[in-house]
Amino acid sequence: MKVVLQNVLKVFPGRGKAGKEVKAVNDFSFEIPDGELIGLLGPSGCGKSTVLNLIAGLLRPTSGRILFGEDDVTKLPPEHRGIGLVFQSYALYPHLTVYQNILFPLENRKGKDKLTKEEMKERACKVAKLVQIDTLLDRRPSELSGGQQQRVAIARALVKMPRVLLLDEPLSNLDARLRLQTREEIRRIQRETGITTVFVTHDQEEAMSISDRIVVMKDGKIQQVGRPQEVYDNPANLFVAKFLGTPPITVLDGEVRNGTLYIGDQGVLPVGGVADGSVFVGVRPEGFVPCKDGGLTCRLKGVEVMGRDISILAEHTASHTPVIRTIVSADVGLDIRSETVSFALKPHKVFLFDRQSEVRLPADLK
Ligand code: ADP
Ligand code: MG
Repeated sequence: MKVVLQNVLKVFPGRGKAGKEVKAVNDFSFEIPDGELIGLLGPSGCGKSTVLNLIAGLLRPTSGRILFGEDDVTKLPPEHRGIGLVFQSYALYPHLTVYQNILFPLENRKGKDKLTKEEMKERACKVAKLVQIDTLLDRRPSELSGGQQQRVAIARALVKMPRVLLLDEPLSNLDARLRLQTREEIRRIQRETGITTVFVTHDQEEAMSISDRIVVMKDGKIQQVGRPQEVYDNPANLFVAKFLGTPPITVLDGEVRNGTLYIGDQGVLPVGGVADGSVFVGVRPEGFVPCKDGGLTCRLKGVEVMGRDISILAEHTASHTPVIRTIVSADVGLDIRSETVSFALKPHKVFLFDRQSEVRLPADLK
């Protein structure tokens, strides 16, 4: 099921006398293709849950339209939208077994939606198998791990055969290893069912690894939409560039002069396509190549071993952060007793941004 948001605005009234109203979602237009998994990504408070609740029908937009396929669902109550919802807290019924929890959404159906006992059982068993909890059906939630409880919550959302699956930070309560495992599970389940899915997270790595497409948000507004690798390789602005990637991108003050990009007084790369003047320079950690006659000379602060790769930590007065974190191959010959380290920069890992608007400049770096 395709989901379309057209110029959706959601304003929350201010609280108290001096309370300012909040535009939690601002002119949000976006089309989720049928069967895709979309990662809705942004810092806390940027409006992710509000977007999800608008799609679910738990909130009404202040203006704008929401369509499922060709149907305008803007005014349709949540129970008629055919959605499955999963939250960070699993919200299972503690006194019911796993089986009863999964069955619960089907039991109160009326009229033409009513299912027979046999049909309900068949559906519940099928989704339990799909999320791999079919051996735990007699247990109560307190007898399950966090990861298993979240699987039950997913099964409960799927048993309704939703047209759209909405997941709001579903992995945040799990420990690191389970988070990794469960996100792979969600990806598998989504592929097997082909249900259009929106996955909300503030964790860029999670969104990048799981999504067909990511939507990066800030202050209620879409910053960029694209395949994870595309957005990483071609960030539209400084916010997106900084939000994606671990370690994060390094931002430095730079200047374009006579076809050369300068950082400090050193020319680092030939550049075309932008006017002379000051710019922000973003360099991905893997864009630094240690080499004797590299154009960017930094103070060497240390080396962290990461296995196959190492991270050289460096300092430069033009950098916006105290430490520059680079990722380089472990077999690079580096004298760690040296005071300085020089880097050449990989041109396709370097982005230039306008200093005022912070929009990416169409620079041609070679
Ligand atoms: P996120 O899920 O990205 O953390 P939310 O969608 O929960 O962000 O919130 C977006 C903004 O809207 C925040 O500034 C939040 O304080 C505000 N907000 C959310 N819900 C309400 C509400 N019911 N009343 C007033 N303000 C709200
Ligand atoms: Mg939220």
